[in-house]
Amino acid sequence: MKFSEIAGHSDTISSLRALADGGKIPHALLLTGISGIGKFRVARAFAQYVHCSNHKDGDSCGVCPSCLQHQRHNNPDLHFVYPVVNKEKRRISTDYIDEWKDMLDNWSYMPPEKWNDIISAGNSQPAILVAESEEIIAKASLSAFQENYKIFLIWLPEKMRPEAANKLLKIIEEPFEDTLFILVSNDDSRLLPTIFSRTQRFNMRPLSGKEISRHLAQRRGVESNLADAASRIAEGSVARAEELACHPDEIMEFSSLFKEIMRMAYALKAAALKSLSERCAAMGREKLLRFLAYCARMVRENFIYNLSLPPISLLTPDEEEFSVRFAPFIHEGNVEGLSNEISRAAADISRNANGKIVMFDLLLLISQWVRLPKPTALPL
Ligand SMILES: [Zn+2]
Repeated sequence: MKFSEIAGHSDTISSLRALADGGKIPHALLLTGISGIGKFRVARAFAQYVHCSNHKDGDSCGVCPSCLQHQRHNNPDLHFVYPVVNKEKRRISTDYIDEWKDMLDNWSYMPPEKWNDIISAGNSQPAILVAESEEIIAKASLSAFQENYKIFLIWLPEKMRPEAANKLLKIIEEPFEDTLFILVSNDDSRLLPTIFSRTQRFNMRPLSGKEISRHLAQRRGVESNLADAASRIAEGSVARAEELACHPDEIMEFSSLFKEIMRMAYALKAAALKSLSERCAAMGREKLLRFLAYCARMVRENFIYNLSLPPISLLTPDEEEFSVRFAPFIHEGNVEGLSNEISRAAADISRNANGKIVMFDLLLLISQWVRLPKPTALPL
């Protein structure tokens, strides 16, 4: 991966490049930001840059032996660490190396749910186990095979079991001279504070709609209207935008289901809400979570629309048509309640709660909130 292959993030890339060029690479870096914006791609490109001895135009050369090994994911001084499930005597990253290469080659924006699929995690939550930390310490104590640095790229350090993290503290604090840890986190609030405080942090922002739309059109050959619509809905995540652009039907399905739910909720049609909640539950967990994210976004966007602030509103033309009528029902008296109920339902679903029950509860709560009259402003 070269820097030139990355959409957006030019500020983070310049800072990283400056650290490497100045010979001032800290021994532990943390790249953090929401899922799907390309943080791991930046980490991979940086590792390749650090190892490449043939820099060209501020980038790795892409053709030296070291760059070629990076592209094949087999540079002996680049170690990947990632959450796995403990099964069939497989419990550390290298036990899952084939699946990992598949992920890097085909899902380089690293959607965690895709990783769960690839390793058939089922209902178990992948984690970085203590055996992994022992492996890292063993590898770190050897000197680099061929490069200036041994690099450990740790994906989702927040999934480290506390005992695994504690084992790594010392080595992250006082690593061997030639060792570099790059942690790539989707949620750094869940990192152990002791790990967090030992890293130099880079907060990476979601990409702008324009950056994503350009990426889809230029790199994925997506037709420009679709690229624009997908980039609006994706909220900064390239992974999400790519998925939407590949499955445009899902956007239409979500949009019509959302409208129907809101109509029935407002009319308090309990039987209809029951059958809608069953339709939602039948989506399965991952799709249902995407749908709930869509609902949360629609509530937020309609509230903004209602405030007559179209410049920050991200609605697509089709959604806007619906919002002309619907937006007045989302106001300061219920926007927070609705958003909270939706995120609580999403949290329950991701913990494997029964979809039908969670969704029926949610739709009934939505109907209470959405029927709440707009509070009248008190005179000043
Ligand atoms: Zn090179």
